[in-house]
Amino acid sequence: MSQVCEGIRKDIPLDKEDQSITKLLATQQPDGSWTDIVYTKTDITVWQPISHLERLINMALAYTGRGKWRDDMTLLTAITNGLQYWYAQDPHSKNWWHNEIDAPQHLGELLIILRQSKNKIPAPLEESLIERMKRGDVYKQTGANKLDVATHYIYRAALTANAGLMDSSVEQVFQPISFTTQEGLQYDYSFMQHGRQLQISSYGAVFITGEYKVASFLRNTRYALGGEKLKILSNYYLNTFLKALRGGYSDFNIEGRGISRVDMLNKTHEQGRLKLAAMVDPAHNNEWNAAIERTNGKQAPSYKLQPSHTHFYCADYTLHTQADYSFNVRMVSSRTKRTENGNGENLIGKFLPDGATDIQVKGNEYYNIMPVWEWDKIPGTTERDYADDQPTTVQWGEVGTMPFVGGVSDSSYGVSAYDMNYNGVTAKKSWFFFDKEVVCLGAGINCKEVENVTTTLNQCWLKGEVTVDGNKAKGKDVASYENPSWVVHDGVGYYLAEQAKLVLSNKEQKGDWYHINHSTSKKIQSGEVFKLWIDHGTNPVNAHYAYVVVPNATKNTLDDLKATIKIITNTESVQVVRNEALDITEAVLYKPATITVGEEVITIDKPCILMIRDTQKAIKKLYIADPTQLETDGTINIANQKTKASKLHAIHFPTGNKAGASLLLEIE
Ligand code: CA
Repeated sequence: MSQVCEGIRKDIPLDKEDQSITKLLATQQPDGSWTDIVYTKTDITVWQPISHLERLINMALAYTGRGKWRDDMTLLTAITNGLQYWYAQDPHSKNWWHNEIDAPQHLGELLIILRQSKNKIPAPLEESLIERMKRGDVYKQTGANKLDVATHYIYRAALTANAGLMDSSVEQVFQPISFTTQEGLQYDYSFMQHGRQLQISSYGAVFITGEYKVASFLRNTRYALGGEKLKILSNYYLNTFLKALRGGYSDFNIEGRGISRVDMLNKTHEQGRLKLAAMVDPAHNNEWNAAIERTNGKQAPSYKLQPSHTHFYCADYTLHTQADYSFNVRMVSSRTKRTENGNGENLIGKFLPDGATDIQVKGNEYYNIMPVWEWDKIPGTTERDYADDQPTTVQWGEVGTMPFVGGVSDSSYGVSAYDMNYNGVTAKKSWFFFDKEVVCLGAGINCKEVENVTTTLNQCWLKGEVTVDGNKAKGKDVASYENPSWVVHDGVGYYLAEQAKLVLSNKEQKGDWYHINHSTSKKIQSGEVFKLWIDHGTNPVNAHYAYVVVPNATKNTLDDLKATIKIITNTESVQVVRNEALDITEAVLYKPATITVGEEVITIDKPCILMIRDTQKAIKKLYIADPTQLETDGTINIANQKTKASKLHAIHFPTGNKAGASLLLEIE
């Protein structure tokens, strides 16, 4: 129990603690309540009554701490009165989470802290409060929620010295550290909750915080976390969660409905969680320390960062991490759910999963931009351009529509594709990820509705001037450009590889947090925003686009790109891009097709996504994935145009829990 107290104790300077306790005692009523808390409030998101228990925890920490309040009998009486008031009132929220997780966890921590004191609260009061903790059924919960309920079961087991309860609770608390196709940690190391919905931060953050916290309480005991489960937990934190941060800020795609909360992308205080991880898993100390330095801003976002590429085939999400930038894509398929709204949060995030591209170099490009965003121009998406923001109509996550959504990866580079059919818009969208650039293609864009259809290249905070073809953009306003080739903003270049009508808006945008989240303020926020989109016009038929994002653009970039990047095909059935410098050809085949790579003619009899490395060498590495996750076998025929030699290779696609994962074929 002393390790629990150590974990809860905060490093508050004694003078601050003194002031806060003096104030709490002065404002507490004789019955133990505070007049500024409305105990009958039942709000689902911010539930005010819980602050009563938070205050009592701070008082208990002072009572058992190092300062002048230690063993102070007035303080103990005040805590006792507060606990009696809570027990008698039994405040309830309309949200089960507060009743079955939040309140019992607070009570458990409070009682454990009070166990460390010389003088105790009355035994009958403690007994009745322990009884009151029996809320929530751990066996009915999954993922992050199971962990949260099991945590207060462990507190109760410790308080009652119940070994049987401790055994079963520890088993339950660490149960979410295992792969599942239900809610929780997925076989591709993504995290899903509320059905098959991407929640890498949000519920995934609850998962890592809770598991490391409990593991830190249980370290050096017979219940300590170790072995395979510890490996899995740290792998999730290091290679999924931390990779989705750039510097001290998260990818906006990983927060679920939390994207609509103030400061949600701010991870500059990640060191709290990282220090817990270091305590539990010191074998990775170098990585935890590097992450602390990157997130708190003491080192650059690139500090000790290992470049990597991961496509999460369970969650329809791609992470492309380079030393100089992150470029991540959120998609949705008929196997997964769109970003939820619920509890009055994320009210207009209707288009968030339609191939949203998070482009981060410094990290803070989207930090708190959400209240001023135009929500039908989410970066990367192709949507109808409405006059007003569109409400999300389905609560708690709408299932996606199309099976062909996926990606191939060799863990350095990759290709992802999103067959979109939503809200009256169809599009075949794909991303070809390399070291210096990401090629974004769209084809088969159709819409019969009245609105213009647009593809948004980016919508982020405006920093410095914007140039179009090397010239300063036309002031702070909205301007159209017919077939420009090159836009640069904040060091990021956008190269238009196909002719397009491009629209640039670099001006102030306004909005309050309330219209995206009803638990927040109606105060108007404003800021200058860089917004760049391709206008496909009304009723586009088979419209298409091709642009290349170069996160560290220099004045030579345009020439380099023309020499390096070849867009070979961009149609609604096949999209092929070649990078000459890396000797990589990448392709998306929405239907069985034949493509030509150098001297070779490659025919594949199944829809797939593929990447061919070392095309100039005798042994080529061919990575292939089935985005539909429906195929088991296929064939690939490689015929040489010069020698006329040809060879047929069998493909056995990964199936079961690995369906959609990448397969490597080495081909002569
Ligand atoms: Ca609009």
